Amino acid sequence: MPELPEVEVVRAGLARHVAGRTVTGVEVLDPRPLRRQDGGVRAFVDQLTGRTVTAVVRRGKFLWLPLDDGRALSAHLGMSGQLLVRGTSPAAASDRDPAIRSAAAFLVDPDTRLGRRPVDLSATERPRYVRDISASPRHLRVRVHLSSDPSADGTDGAVLDLVDQRMLGGLHVVDLTPTVDGAPGGAGSPEPLLPADATHIARDLLDPALELAGPTGVVARVRASRRAIKTLLLDQGLVSGIGNIYADEGLWEAGVHGLRLGTALDTRVVARILEATAEVMRRALEAGGTSFDALYVDVEGASGFFARELGAYGRQGQACRRCGTTMLREALGGRSHTYCPRCQRRPRRRR
Ligand SMILES: [Zn+2]
Repeated sequence: MPELPEVEVVRAGLARHVAGRTVTGVEVLDPRPLRRQDGGVRAFVDQLTGRTVTAVVRRGKFLWLPLDDGRALSAHLGMSGQLLVRGTSPAAASDRDPAIRSAAAFLVDPDTRLGRRPVDLSATERPRYVRDISASPRHLRVRVHLSSDPSADGTDGAVLDLVDQRMLGGLHVVDLTPTVDGAPGGAGSPEPLLPADATHIARDLLDPALELAGPTGVVARVRASRRAIKTLLLDQGLVSGIGNIYADEGLWEAGVHGLRLGTALDTRVVARILEATAEVMRRALEAGGTSFDALYVDVEGASGFFARELGAYGRQGQACRRCGTTMLREALGGRSHTYCPRCQRRPRRRR
């Protein structure tokens, strides 16, 4: 499941290649990803065609593309959804981002523009985690045709594909609504707007407008709860963007067992956990996200490379990187929790 850093990688890639383009056509090969669309396939196509994508915005793991009519295309990646951009001009892309110049060579397919392989930004760096993600047509669900980019010379039209093997992701057009606090809705746009069906999603840990301190801040709300800290970290209504990977990492970094209750933690410890989790996510972002599931790739087809850096997640049975004690894993609230029994003291069972 992509978490905040992985979705941010997708957001940045979409912003680079899709923002400013106009939708010239929509092909729905499978209606199931549109299940959240009011009015179904017809409404989706009608509401999207002719609209220009003005930005790409993310709050936590939620992603939306504001359109020029005040609505937005909302994208859910689910467990296996991928958004792939094809057909963007390699020359224009490398002009704007020198880092991908070397990758541009992979792009060109002389036979068909749409048949170009997606850009793989990372293949030359760490090929170990990269796989060929040439989309199987079987898993292509929705294809959005886009105009050339008016802000860059020499670009061609492009397509944005939703590819989804397990059918858990989806797209829909939704109204935007003002944020309660008047701050930007998320990363990627200064507009104080967010999708009307995402108002229950709290701001994420990397959002400068997230209220941490104060009587209604995240720290106070954690300390008022008798739920386990790990469960609280995963609660997208409290603070968004954290999934199983980064919750385990933040708790390991902070030296706190996930079963500790919010009420058992003092302000300093809660702040330490949140800061540690944010820091791990920032590091993952620099590395391009974390990827364990081969299905996860970013919008241009690159998978993340942060997995090897992790301290806790997926390391049960291995030595703690800090103290050498064998890491353990246990069930916690329907998820797994991997921890070091020495660095992260397990609370005594409640009677
Ligand atoms: Zn340890």
